Amino acid sequence: MIITIRQHATSEERAQLMTLLCRVMGSLNPIATTQIDGREVIALDQQQIDSQAQAMLKHEGAVERLQMLKTPYQLVSRAFKAESTRIVVGEGHDCEQVIIGGTGASPVIIAGPCAVESREQLLSTACAVKGAGAQILRGGAFKPRTSPYQFQGLGMEGLHLLAEARQITGLPVITEVMEPALIDAVAEHADILQIGSRNMQNFPLLLAAGRNSLKRPVMLKRGLSATIDEWLQAAEYIVAAGNPNVMLCERGIRSYDPQTRNVLDLSCVPLLHELTHLPIIVDPSHATGKRELVPTMSRASIAAGAEGLIIETHEDPATALCDGRQSITPEQLRHIVRNTHLLARLLQEEKMLTVA
Ligand code: PEP
Ligand code: MN
Repeated sequence: MIITIRQHATSEERAQLMTLLCRVMGSLNPIATTQIDGREVIALDQQQIDSQAQAMLKHEGAVERLQMLKTPYQLVSRAFKAESTRIVVGEGHDCEQVIIGGTGASPVIIAGPCAVESREQLLSTACAVKGAGAQILRGGAFKPRTSPYQFQGLGMEGLHLLAEARQITGLPVITEVMEPALIDAVAEHADILQIGSRNMQNFPLLLAAGRNSLKRPVMLKRGLSATIDEWLQAAEYIVAAGNPNVMLCERGIRSYDPQTRNVLDLSCVPLLHELTHLPIIVDPSHATGKRELVPTMSRASIAAGAEGLIIETHEDPATALCDGRQSITPEQLRHIVRNTHLLARLLQEEKMLTVA
């Protein structure tokens, strides 16, 4: 259930609503208000509110609207908010501002190495991906690696290098954060916080990303074997904690066939557009694990309606410290960027013809 608070509700009306909610809900869960599109809302577990309590809530002076939703996720659902979420990336830093999602926005290309390896590597790749037409730079400073003996990233030094790359290229940057204690440090340097697949259900991390004081947007990658409902509920944690700027990233799901690293679930893109107002980014690099599949799956992702792509790009993939097999070169990226824009234009024209 979602309660939208009346814009000019008095403090007495609000206090009365909170008292009633506390009485109805007991002290099982804290009751938190969240801002969505400038409106204050409270999301609650409908199961805990019987019909008598619902009737009482409807008559509260502070309540503008009560919405009953059938889904386990609420604030992220299209049923709650019909309008697609538009996220501004790069605010508060001296760089280009990039729009992700919202009606009529063109797809955004995020590119860069899997990991920040050195100053030279990052700066030259950053300039090369910018030259190829990417709008946001990616690069992992803290790397979640399967083996403890693999390269774990440069840590804080990597964050400083990303900030330097932004300063030089004007591209906003995205990087992964793995622990709640590092959210503020990463938010200070990055323009988007990436929550990786292995942490999709790290609930303290989701809450910390939701509460990050700089209000950085978050890109939430789908868990290795996560269902769509689990993924949307993970996104709900971030939004309910106070951060409405969440984008979802499909990066392939586990299967039995080692021919590809994962299975790219592209049907989730149109499905998610039905279920949620959040923008969707596709990662064809981790989904396939093979660079030769990346251009085709990038096209397919845009054709399926993705709001953006995140693509691992390295100037010399053979020497990459992480994920070289799936990394493409800046030259290959240039073709993908061109095709993305051509395809997006075609789809836009087709949409206009359908509307007319
Ligand atoms: C990454 O983006 O480099 C990464 C580790 O991705 P994922 O969490 O999807 O495996
Ligand atoms: Mn990677």
